[in-house]
Amino acid sequence: MRDKIFKNIWLVSMASFFLALALSIGVIYGVFSNQNREKLKTEAESLISAIENGERDILKDASLFSQTRVTLVNRDGIVEFDSASAAVGENHGDRREIIDAFEKGLGQSSRYSETLSEKTENYAVRLKDGSVLRVSDSQISLFSVLAEMAYPFLLAIAAALVISFLLASKLSKNITRPVLEMNPNLPDSRFVYKEFKPFIEKIQNQNRQIHAQMEEMQASHEKQEAMRREFTANVSHELKTPLTSISGTAEIIKNNLVKPEDVPHFADNIYKEASRLIVLVEDIIKISQLEENRIPQSRENLDLLPAAESVKERLESAAASAGVKLSVSGESAVINGIPQVIDEIIYNLCDNSIKYNKCGGTVDIRISKESEKACLSVSDSGIGIPAEEISRIFERFYRVDKSHSKEIGGTGLGLAIVKHGALLHGAVPRVESTPGVGTTVYLEFDAVPQNTAGNN
Ligand code: ADP
Repeated sequence: MRDKIFKNIWLVSMASFFLALALSIGVIYGVFSNQNREKLKTEAESLISAIENGERDILKDASLFSQTRVTLVNRDGIVEFDSASAAVGENHGDRREIIDAFEKGLGQSSRYSETLSEKTENYAVRLKDGSVLRVSDSQISLFSVLAEMAYPFLLAIAAALVISFLLASKLSKNITRPVLEMNPNLPDSRFVYKEFKPFIEKIQNQNRQIHAQMEEMQASHEKQEAMRREFTANVSHELKTPLTSISGTAEIIKNNLVKPEDVPHFADNIYKEASRLIVLVEDIIKISQLEENRIPQSRENLDLLPAAESVKERLESAAASAGVKLSVSGESAVINGIPQVIDEIIYNLCDNSIKYNKCGGTVDIRISKESEKACLSVSDSGIGIPAEEISRIFERFYRVDKSHSKEIGGTGLGLAIVKHGALLHGAVPRVESTPGVGTTVYLEFDAVPQNTAGNN
């Protein structure tokens, strides 16, 4: 940055120097030339008044009172008198100033010598008798001035180069120092130029944003860590309960404390607890697969209606033994999803609706299509969920009624699997529930347009 600022300052100062030099030379030379022209005019006028007063002989002395050259050209353009004597007899009728003087009474011109080293100013006036008096003066041309001044000019340029180099270097250091010395973590606009204020404010804003993001990340990290600890504690607890029961029952049998006729009952107990353990472990595996997006199946176009019918068939007997009537309604709606995960979602919702229902209650799985959405809802006429609990039921191992969880069954992971499975499909479950009346869980998926529904 400093290098660039330095180069720019140096460039600007050198450009200003050259511009100022050229302008001053031009102006000085212009003033000098004007003065010369004025001098010629004054001399011409005094000569004319003398000649017209009959003192023509003054021409012979003209060279005495000035360095100028005086020429008298008759009406035919022939030089009758020339103080330099060189042009007498020549025809000067074709010279610009002479032509103008013949035509308009006054003519002026400037002519450069062949080498461009001299410039001659001519001032010509027509006399009453029709002849023309011309006064000329040669002055050094601008080119010669520059050529003669070359040495001092080069010296001045060299001095300007050195001085501007030193100044530019100092200035660029002064400009960049406060910025370079600024602490980017704590930028303070009081220590830099006011031009930098918007830049400093930008850094300050960015710092605030980074700070807020870091705090957010820290909070989220802490939350995740707390969730992980809670999950581990819950898993240990959920595993320990059936294992303790299995171990205790097995110990009683081992110590021959069970009557032979009671052995099947105890064995059934072990079988049930072991089955519960297997379901729990399977649910934990499912959750971690969903969280890490490691589902063995790939996505395909699938119709929610037959998927719901299939779940209904498998849960029919469970519903019947709970005295609950299970139904599927609605229309076909195709989505692009992972069949195993969608099946799991519908199954868990339906299973809950049967489990948390009343004898004689109903469960309806409804599939519908609204514009570009495929909607799935599972409604029941069950026990319902208190409003303050609704936000928590998707947490792992969260149960509204902890005391009856064992007899009702379930791992406490069903809705967590629903939530993660839905999120994987871009859907967020929404719950409406009234205690004692029933619960409905809604899910909205992106529908596959009808004409492409057949292609996977
Ligand atoms: P569980 O294995 O205990 O059913 P879930 O994660 O599926 O675990 O559900 C969490 C809790 O939410 C349940 O314990 C229950 O208290 C409540 N719940 C879920 N679905 C319903 C429902 N349809 N009606 C009433 N309560 C429900």
